[in-house]
Amino acid sequence: MNSTTNNPTHDAHDHLRHATAAHVDRIHEDIDRVLVPSAAIASRVRALGAMIGEDYAHADGRLTVVPVMTGSLLFAADLVRALPQRRMRIQLTTVSSYGGKSTTSGGSSVVGALPKHLEGHHVLIVDDILDSGGTIRLLRAEFEACGAASVRACVLLRKRIPSAMATPCEYVGFEIGDEFVVGYGLDFDDLYRNLPYVGSLRKEAQVR
Ligand code: 5GP
Ligand code: MG
Repeated sequence: MNSTTNNPTHDAHDHLRHATAAHVDRIHEDIDRVLVPSAAIASRVRALGAMIGEDYAHADGRLTVVPVMTGSLLFAADLVRALPQRRMRIQLTTVSSYGGKSTTSGGSSVVGALPKHLEGHHVLIVDDILDSGGTIRLLRAEFEACGAASVRACVLLRKRIPSAMATPCEYVGFEIGDEFVVGYGLDFDDLYRNLPYVGSLRKEAQVR
């Protein structure tokens, strides 16, 4: 018999490993359709990184990337690693949108303090999805008021709806239809952010 079999620590770890595997399986089962596969995300992020890197070639030491938490966590983490900049900064911000769990309505507000020391910096807002446009419009106005040298926005997804299409946004990963999506950072009730792709949630899973 293996000498670790009766070790309670190992038993707990084994239990956790199996529980995690079961959870991951369940997560995939809640997905109706994959809209953007992980390989497509990876190659688009590389292309965006190259494009943005070139556009900000003049901004070495004066580029500040501002990921909007929590939805852009995964996208921003991958995007900054695709940037060739020698010196850049990352400052997080959180924006709350009012409205239901799977929709957003008009009002957006910044939670907590705004990023500091943006004066003279080229600010790149990074968000998960452009929907009503409230988040990007709000942050752009705030950062311009802070004296940023320039403010641009980059989103992984943009919904093909009038409010999103009418919101200025310099870099867009993918356009999708008007539906609620999860994965690669995007959540439903704080779940599904860890999916490696973007997909739509089954109706049955859209309950608390
Ligand atoms: P906006 O301010 O453009 O209306 O919306 C931005 C925020 O609304 C996103 O950062 C995201 O948190 C949330 N959101 C909008 N559409 C979706 C969606 O289809 N799925 C998820 N998970 N969040 C969304
Ligand atoms: Mg968000």
